[in-house]
Amino acid sequence: MSPVPLRNEKAAEAPVRSVTVLGATGSIGDSTMDLIRAAPERYKVEALTANGNVEGIVKLAKEFNARFVAVADESKGDELRAALAGTGIETGAGESAVTEAAARPADWVMAAVSGAAGLKPALAAVDRGATVALANKECLVCAGDFFMDRAAKAGATILPADSEHNALFQALASGSRDELTRVIITASGGPFRTWKAEDIEQATLAQALKHPNWSMGQKITIDSASMMNKGLEVIEASYLFALAPDEIDVLVHPQSIIHGMVEFTDMSVVAQLGSPDMRTPIAHCLGWPNRISKGRAAPLDLAKIGSLTFEAPDYARFPGLKLAYDALRTGSGATTVYNAANEIAVAAFIAGKIRFGAIARLVETTMNEWVRAGNLAPLSSADDAISVDHKARKLAASLLPEIAAKAS
Ligand code: NAD
Ligand code: MG
Repeated sequence: MSPVPLRNEKAAEAPVRSVTVLGATGSIGDSTMDLIRAAPERYKVEALTANGNVEGIVKLAKEFNARFVAVADESKGDELRAALAGTGIETGAGESAVTEAAARPADWVMAAVSGAAGLKPALAAVDRGATVALANKECLVCAGDFFMDRAAKAGATILPADSEHNALFQALASGSRDELTRVIITASGGPFRTWKAEDIEQATLAQALKHPNWSMGQKITIDSASMMNKGLEVIEASYLFALAPDEIDVLVHPQSIIHGMVEFTDMSVVAQLGSPDMRTPIAHCLGWPNRISKGRAAPLDLAKIGSLTFEAPDYARFPGLKLAYDALRTGSGATTVYNAANEIAVAAFIAGKIRFGAIARLVETTMNEWVRAGNLAPLSSADDAISVDHKARKLAASLLPEIAAKAS
């Protein structure tokens, strides 16, 4: 059975739910803490984690009286301990401390670390059979070969928190898996939706960070501009819901009101709509299997929005999206390589080492080199996925100078 529950039965409420938020200081973490803040009688915070933002995590730890707090940056451990001295809140530092936070006994875990660094902590929550709201798409893309199987074996429940996947999760409840013909995930098209290819090639960091609809962390905002984010989401949808690449379509929808749709055998299409506010899918995960109302987003006013428009995606101007389908079809670690090369490319773009247009070129060249060298093999463990991730990062980094030097 799929760890993503496909029917939505209302259940008796536990009086208090214990929750852990991995990546509590980020954009998703912020929205999650907002929802928890709105109903303090319903939630007890077990653990909170951050990368290196001690000030931010200490503030949250005190406000929510967390039992355990971890920072991934080991060098910040003393500062964290000193800041929480006398509060009774336990602390930890280093990658293993973030994993320890995930392993502690919370009923519900928000996995919102950014990047493949979130894999081990997410697996620690999965392995103890927790209910995991999964925002961290890179970890699923990196470990797609085995992540969902492992969740099924451990009896974990995976609740898709990414807005498109949460929409599919909600729409899927209208039929059975064997009645599904395809899913459609929408994309805003990002800030460069109407730009010419040569302008996209030269886009600056400030231009890439100007998302038209969503306010998000830096990495995902750049991924939205390159449509690599949609590529990661195609892969994410495939793994989450066991869909073939041909069963997943992308539709550009600049208003970001419809987040995802499911088409069934009778040609009914069931869509989920909402304002572009991550509090809605997060609230769905936090309340699941029931609905909550405290801390929610503003109601959707379609009369005010006036019109919803749609376009086919343009693979020529956004080649990263097509590469995601290639990686998915190739399998055997190719999606891990796609993600790793993209993380290196985005970091290089932020550092001013490559042009925007070179992000997809670096990913494509890394994937081609990887396949050419005969490296493809199915992944079956976190160590496998992390080893491929590290090797692919090294390969991408070694190809960077050549890609940086080349004109488009
Ligand atoms: P963000 O950069 O705002 O926050 C990331 C969080 O992870 C922070 O708390 C940071 O301290 C922590 N972190 C970063 N690197 C870490 C490391 N190496 N080890 C441990 N912790 C680390 O990112 P975000 O926008 O909140 O996105 C988080 C995840 O959710 C990403 O995978 C993203 O793709 C996904 N997501 C985000 C949105 C959104 O609207 N922001 C929507 C859908 C999915
Ligand atoms: Mg999304």
